[in-house]
Amino acid sequence: MNFTVFEQSDGPGGVWHDNHYPGCEVDVPIFRYSNTFTNYSWTENYASQKELECYCESIIDQFSLSKHLQFNSKVEQIAWDESWAKYQVRLADGRSEYFSVVVSAVGLLSNPKVPDWPGLDEFRGPKFHSARWEHEHDLSGKTVAVVGTGSSGTQVVGTLAPSVGQLLVFQREPGWIWPKKKRSLTPEEPKTLRAIRLCEVVASDEGVLAKPPL
Ligand SMILES: Cc1cc2nc3c(=O)[nH]c(=O)nc-3n(C[C@H](O)[C@H](O)[C@H](O)COP(=O)(O)OP(=O)(O)OC[C@H]3O[C@@H](n4cnc5c(N)ncnc54)[C@H](O)[C@@H]3O)c2cc1C
Repeated sequence: MNFTVFEQSDGPGGVWHDNHYPGCEVDVPIFRYSNTFTNYSWTENYASQKELECYCESIIDQFSLSKHLQFNSKVEQIAWDESWAKYQVRLADGRSEYFSVVVSAVGLLSNPKVPDWPGLDEFRGPKFHSARWEHEHDLSGKTVAVVGTGSSGTQVVGTLAPSVGQLLVFQREPGWIWPKKKRSLTPEEPKTLRAIRLCEVVASDEGVLAKPPL
């Protein structure tokens, strides 16, 4: 099958490539956030952003996908061309190609929403969105404000707090959080859990509802 994946970022991983803020990691147990058909051996029960990126790379290697991937390729327009009976996919850099089938997998969270608060433009210190973290700023000892306490905000706050001078957290609404109980996996756990998940697939095929343990 001939297929091409166009990706506007410069690497694979989607949100796990673009988000690299301090403390960035998955919020659900990793065995609920990974494919059953891969051989990847996770090291922790909640994978870090770095490990999730490695996981994506391993899938690319396992299925020899590199030749199909085009990075720095933003799709700007897709139009049905009646004369060719195909879709014309136009990229931001001017290239265009024809395809019989187009699958949109653009995600919901790949474009960060930057607020337009009055005065933000005049603020002279570093200011950036968690989804585009600027690692060149040394925040140790500085007074830092974090706005928002969703998943990203919560992870950033917990990771920054020990190193900054003062951390101010601005929250519009309180949310529920509880300890993740993050820990390293033993070398046996990935194998055992993979076996359990394979059993689950067989059980589902037979119409038996089987749920793996958390
Ligand atoms: C920081 C963060 C943490 C998260 N944690 C969790 C979690 O713990 N558990 C959970 O279930 N979900 C989590 N999510 C939600 C996450 O979005 C999904 O789990 C999952 O990554 C979505 O995958 P996706 O492939 O649909 O989209 P994405 O990962 O967003 O991938 C879409 C890709 O399409 C590309 N793209 C978009 N428009 C274009 C275009 N015009 N041309 C070319 N390329 C384009 C983007 O650059 C992106 O790489 C998290 C999201 C974020 C941002």
